[in-house]
Amino acid sequence: MKNIEENIKILKKKIQNLLKNNNTFLKKIKIVAASKNQSSQKIQMALLSGIHEFGENYVQEGINKIRQLKQYNNIIWHFIGKLQSKKTKLVAQNFDWCQTIDREKIAFLLNQNRTNTQCPMNVLIQINISKEKNKNGIDIKQYQKLAKVVSEMPNLNFRGIMAMPKKEKTSIKYSDYENIHNIFNILKDKYKSVDTLSLGTSFDITTALMYNSNMIRIGRDIFDC
Ligand SMILES: *Cc1c(COP(=O)(O)O)cnc(C)c1O
Repeated sequence: MKNIEENIKILKKKIQNLLKNNNTFLKKIKIVAASKNQSSQKIQMALLSGIHEFGENYVQEGINKIRQLKQYNNIIWHFIGKLQSKKTKLVAQNFDWCQTIDREKIAFLLNQNRTNTQCPMNVLIQINISKEKNKNGIDIKQYQKLAKVVSEMPNLNFRGIMAMPKKEKTSIKYSDYENIHNIFNILKDKYKSVDTLSLGTSFDITTALMYNSNMIRIGRDIFDC
């Protein structure tokens, strides 16, 4: 029977091999364990197996786990779910990163509710890459203005972009990855704080790394046993 520790070993090996095969010089890929619906015990197991960053989709569920695991001060908590404006305060006060800024109002409220005693919140703009109507993220044509607003907020540290390409049944839509990669390069040139492309989940790690992702959000490949 596989377990979380074994899963993480396999995942890290897979990433290492992909980087070699892509002829990319061995760069640093951050793994964020997508831990929605997983218990604090399972998160603890992943932590003890060498994962230090966790992504939660639901504010209250995430905060409960943050509290339960507060004895581990080396965990970095990411909010990766759809964010409603009335929950922004809780996210600003409890998480280290927010990956899902998709409109100015959210950026404004996160900035406002990040207290002065905390370091600036690391944030990513989520881009709706597959142009799906019901998908989260800002329209690909409108990210520039939002990026400018976010970059000027004193309590936010604008680190880059996040995207979740649509899972196609038969083939990977490479143009989506190409577009997101281009947007990342444009922003990286423009803003010196930008260094993070959060792209890739259990189903598309290979493609994401091909397009220079340096942060992958992995749920099933870590927690499915
Ligand atoms: C659940 C989730 C993931 C992880 O997906 P898996 O297929 O389980 O690896 C990544 N990103 C977001 C935003 C998620 O909600």
